[in-house]
Formats: sequence, structure tokens, C-alpha cells
Amino acid sequence: MGNPQIRKTEHVKYSDIKRYIRENRVSSVKITNSTIEAIDKSGRVRYVAGNIPAFDDKLIPLLEDKNITYEGRIGEGIISQLISMLLPIFIFFAIWLFIAKKMSKGMGGILGAGKSDKLINSERPNVKFDDVQGVQEAKDEVVEIVDFLKYPERYIELGAKIPKGLLLVGPPGTGKTLLAKAVAGEAEVPFFSVSGSGFIEMFVGVGASRVRDLFEQAKRNAPSIIFIDEIDAIGKSRVSGGQMGGNDEREQTLNQLLAEMDGFGSDTPVIVLAATNRPETLDAALLRAGRFDRQVLVDKPDYAGRLAILKVHAKDVKLDESVDLEVVAKQTAGLAGADLANIINESALLAGRANKKSIEQSDLLEAIERAFVGLEKKNRKVSDIEKKIVAYHESGHALMAELTEGATKVTKVSIIPRGLGALGYTLHLPDDEDRFLKQKHELLAEVDVLLAGRAAEEIFLGEISTGAGNDLDRATAIIKDMISVYGMSDVAGLMVLSRTQSSFLGGGMVSNDYSEKLAEEIDIYIKQTLNERYEFVKETLSNYRGAIEKMAQVLLDVEVIEGSLVKEIIKEYREENGI
Ligand code: ADP
Ligand code: ZN
Repeated sequence: MGNPQIRKTEHVKYSDIKRYIRENRVSSVKITNSTIEAIDKSGRVRYVAGNIPAFDDKLIPLLEDKNITYEGRIGEGIISQLISMLLPIFIFFAIWLFIAKKMSKGMGGILGAGKSDKLINSERPNVKFDDVQGVQEAKDEVVEIVDFLKYPERYIELGAKIPKGLLLVGPPGTGKTLLAKAVAGEAEVPFFSVSGSGFIEMFVGVGASRVRDLFEQAKRNAPSIIFIDEIDAIGKSRVSGGQMGGNDEREQTLNQLLAEMDGFGSDTPVIVLAATNRPETLDAALLRAGRFDRQVLVDKPDYAGRLAILKVHAKDVKLDESVDLEVVAKQTAGLAGADLANIINESALLAGRANKKSIEQSDLLEAIERAFVGLEKKNRKVSDIEKKIVAYHESGHALMAELTEGATKVTKVSIIPRGLGALGYTLHLPDDEDRFLKQKHELLAEVDVLLAGRAAEEIFLGEISTGAGNDLDRATAIIKDMISVYGMSDVAGLMVLSRTQSSFLGGGMVSNDYSEKLAEEIDIYIKQTLNERYEFVKETLSNYRGAIEKMAQVLLDVEVIEGSLVKEIIKEYREENGI
């Protein structure tokens, strides 16, 4: 309010202004936010006081009394002062809320993640055991859980100890999640699931509180199933997983999980199923009794399994009558259930694009090609020649194992590529478990069986491959040990040739505490023994040509051969040939 006559502004105290008013020196007063101005009666001087007291209920009556004009309100100052004080806090709060909201989109809230329902998936699956095919052994393992969840009282009354945790181990896409859902579906109980990787968050403490929530919900709704996918993300061994940052978080989450699993007794009908394809990385604490002390293998399906899985998924689509799923199953060796489900779906898309009324065989074959291209090397298609090599190689191992006294007998032979590296395998189980001692003839038997893979390739295919590398390595090691550790040879007699590692020279340096000459003799002995055994093995296999041909054919047809069938084939061959 400009007053042209004012010449001078004097800064005074509030009490001074009040005094001037009382002394009738003031003509008008203006009260603003935080100041009070008084105009001198002459109209030339303006007194200004800042820092006025918040309340002065004597001021207005005084002004009225003196008949001084005034404007402004005392309260105005307080409110705007309050606003100016609170505004920064308000802005700060708004920004914080904004950030919190943004983050919670990705990770379920940072406000202590009090309720993490979104990341804990809860459902009542209607998956049944029939929907899960090709993993019979795994199904056999989980049926008893279904009964426990259905009739917990029976077991609790008897005081039975039911496993709390079960680890489903197997390559991706083999149906671990599906199997867990089927357990819940068969038992008709709720299914609470989380993914291990979802636990690893930026904010320490979120994972732990989520685990707490998960178990709380499951216990509240017991009987129920908890499913933790990719448990290796939280359960990584604390020793090996020495990553920087995020470690604290994972450890807290893991500790919470361990605490929760220990926290409920076997009278609480909650079963925790967890899945991983890297069981070797798991912290040992997770696998201890009362936690995930049972492991179930959910492996890639064999021919029969693939056919069954294809049939399950074919129910959802319209197949032409000419479609032959057996051919599809044959051509998909090495693929997991999820890949097969994809192939069916992809074929439906292809048929749709071509405006067909139903899926034809050509669509399925095209989808198979695409699946293998998509999977590239990781799950590469095994070529026919490779299959043949592996079939004969493994048949050689199997036959030798059956014929050699002291060798562990064959349980199952398979040419399905599983895991890394190995193209096929022959599963041997010792006849009587818990054996610590081996006799000399058993060690030699082991060598013979190992050499039989290579021998079979040479005899039946006329050419050898790299497939025997590991076998030869192990065979050589056994003979070396027989000489130098067990004193079972003529070269060194009973002398134990301990090899000392000179550590200060850095690993890898090995110094033998025996003479150069003996070392040479040993090398010659090892080579000779291997050669002798190899000739013997080749002779044996040659005498059983027909049997090996038959086994290899079964393997090429259905990829697996049970130990009992191996025995049968050999027996038949012997009878036919009078051996
Ligand atoms: P995992 O948990 O082992 O990675 P999933 O259970 O998630 O594999 O499998 C994904 C999908 O693939 C399943 O929902 C199902 O449609 C199909 N599938 C996988 N394995 C099988 C199986 N053994 N039998 C039938 N379908 C399967
Ligand atoms: Zn081999």
C-alpha cells in the first residue's frame, strides 16, 4: 500500500507500536502475515515491527478503543506460517509416496511389505496326477503326501512323522510346478506359491517378511501346500555364493525360511515343496532333517513318457485323424514336458495361420523343427548317428556289466541326453549296499565295464569316438590306484607309492618319491594292463554280437532299457547259441 507522503520507515518493537497507539500517535494500523505497521498521525512516518506475538487479544480492543482504522487479521499470519512450515514436509512425503508406489509395482511394496499377497500366489489348482505324465517315479514319491493332506488326523493321532519339505529336482520344464499343483489338486487343498528369485530384493528385510507371510497364510489355511520355485535363488550355499551386496538380504530370507520350517511340527498339515534344477548349489542347512530332507528327481521323459505327455496336451487342441503322435514322440528325444506342450501349441498356431480346420502331421513336424531351433545348443537335437554311437556304446557297458563277475549290475540304460555332457548313461546299482571294501577282481571288473563302451564302438561301428574319454580316464585311474595305493601289482609289489603334493610350489606340481625307472615301469604296466583288458573285452563282446545288436535296437526305439530286459536278452542269446 503505497502512501506517497511517507518519508520514513522506522523499525521498532511490537511493544513500541502498542505504546504509540496508547499515546494516540497512530492513525492507522495494518497487520500482515508477520508484521504490524502503524502510520504516524502526521502520515509521514511508518513504524514497522516484525516478530509479532502469535496472540494478543488486547490489540484489537485497544485499536477499537482508540478508533484507529486497521486491516488484516491476526489469524492469517499463523495459518500461512503453518503452511509454509508444513509445505516442505508435505512435498517430501508426496515424493516418497510416489517412489514407493513405483517400486512396489516391481517388488510388492517397500512399506515393510506388510501384505505381500500379490507375490504370494494363492490358488486351488484343479490339476490331477493324470495331467502329469512321464515322471512316474516322482509321482510315486508324492502320493503319500496327498493322503496326509486329505486325512491329517489319522497320521497326527498315530504320531507319524510326515516329511515337511520335499525338494523336486530336475531340469527346467519337466513338470515340477505341475506336479506340486497336482498334489494340491488331488488333495483338494490350497496352494501357496512364490518364486525364489522374487525374494531377492533391493530392500533388506522384505524377503524375510514375505517368507513369514507365506507360512502364516499357509498355516491359517491348513491343510495346504507351499511351493517355492527356484529355491536356489535364496538357498544358495552361503559359502559359495559370496556375491557382493544383496547377500544380507538373501541370508536373512534363508534364515527366515529355515526358522519357519523348524517352527511348525508334524501336527501341522502344511507341506513345503520346493523346486530347483541346481541342487548342488543349495546350502546344506536346507537339506537337513526336518527341512528338505527328501529329494525327488523329476527328469526328462523317455519315449513312452513323451508320448503320454503329448496325449495330455493333445486333448486341448483339434488334431487331424492322420496325426501320428508316436512319430512326434520319436523325434523329440531330449525335450522336456514344457517343450512338448509348446510344440502342440505351436502346431495349432501354424494350422490356424494356414486356415486349416485341424492340426496336421506336417504342422507338428514344423513345430518340432522350430522348437529345436529355438532351443539351439542347450537342448540340441541328437543326430541319428550320435544316437547310434551312444546306443552301441551303452549296450557294450551294459553287456559287460552283466557278464562280468564282480561288476555292479545294470539297473537301467538310457540314451536320452540328460544334464550336461553325458549323452547317455548306464545306471549301475551295487547288489548289496554299504560296501567299503573291494576285491581285486571287482576292480578289474570295473575296468572291463568301463572299456566296453569304446570296444563296442570299435566292433559294431568300425570307428571310435570321443564318447569314451571319461571312461578311459576312470579305467586308468583304477589301475593306477591298484598299483600305487592298494599294492595289487607285481611292479611295485606291496610298496605304496604315495604321491606328495609340494604345496609351496603351487598346486599341480607332483613329486614322486620313487625312482624314474619305477615310474617308467609303472607307465608300461598301466598301458599293458589296459591293452590286455581291452582285448579281453572286445573278445567277449564279439561273442555276444546278436545280444548287443538287439539291445542297441531297443535303445534306438525307446531310448531306455531296464536291467531286467538286458538280462532277458542275454539269456535268450545264450540259449540260442548254446553258450
Ligand atoms: P518346471 O516347474 O519343472 O520348470 P512346469 O511344471 O512349469 O515345469 O512345466 C510347464 C508346463 O509344461 C506345464 O504347465 C505343462 O503344461 C507342461 N509340462 C511340463 N512337464 C509336464 C509333464 N511331465 N506332463 C505334462 N505336462 C507337462
Ligand atoms: Zn561310456
